[in-house]
Amino acid sequence: MSEKGILAVVSGFSGAGKGTLMKALLERYKEQYALSISATTRKPREGEEHGREYFFLTEEAFCRMIDEDDLIEHACYVGNYYGTPKQYVFDQMAAGRDVILEIEIQGALKVKEKLPETLLLFVTPPSAGELESRLRGRGTETEAVIRERLKRASEEAAYMERYDYLLINDNLDACVEEMHRLIQSQHRRTSQSQAFIGQMKEELKAMRESLES
Ligand code: ADP
Ligand code: 5GP
Repeated sequence: MSEKGILAVVSGFSGAGKGTLMKALLERYKEQYALSISATTRKPREGEEHGREYFFLTEEAFCRMIDEDDLIEHACYVGNYYGTPKQYVFDQMAAGRDVILEIEIQGALKVKEKLPETLLLFVTPPSAGELESRLRGRGTETEAVIRERLKRASEEAAYMERYDYLLINDNLDACVEEMHRLIQSQHRRTSQSQAFIGQMKEELKAMRESLES
């Protein structure tokens, strides 16, 4: 019997490098991981595709998903709704793949509440100055949105301790490897290893019985 996959949530300040890290992790270990694609009411950025970066929905369609209980969680972030579709996540975990949700903090805490075994990872650049230069360097937001996201980052910092592990994204390559190691170490949790534990118990019981006879 194969073990169920791990559910890992990756959050962090906008511009911390989450998207870049995810892409590198998935390229390196594509058999192991499945990245959940969220639904959002945000408009696509240039180069983004429906069904690849996000499912871009109208507010009406998004609300329908909430009503039909199709989302594990949802939250509002800087004026737009974002949510995690349930089906894909549970299907992939059942197939033994480790599923990653790249979602903001309120959503992450809701997932942990619903599914306490979830691994929460928080990605941060090495300094606030580096965060600002990455966000500006990306060049995808207007000045007003950048300021909004930097202000939001200061509020988000209050929640860093609620996460299981901190990932400092300084050297990209090292950070990808660290993330991989942390997620893979979860496979050794006893709650995750029920099949192995069951078999070991049976083998030891049989051995004991043969020693006693
Ligand atoms: P997020 O998804 O967290 O908002 P992105 O992945 O879009 O962040 O990264 C923001 C910017 O920072 C991008 O321009 C990206 O190329 C750059 N970046 C990501 N990781 C690093 C890193 N380790 N060192 C330097 N720049 C990085
Ligand atoms: P962006 O607009 O930059 O793509 O994403 C904005 C924020 O929304 C990021 O912090 C991202 O992690 C978060 N986000 C993306 N998808 C989801 C989701 O399904 N649920 C929640 N709660 N947040 C999400």
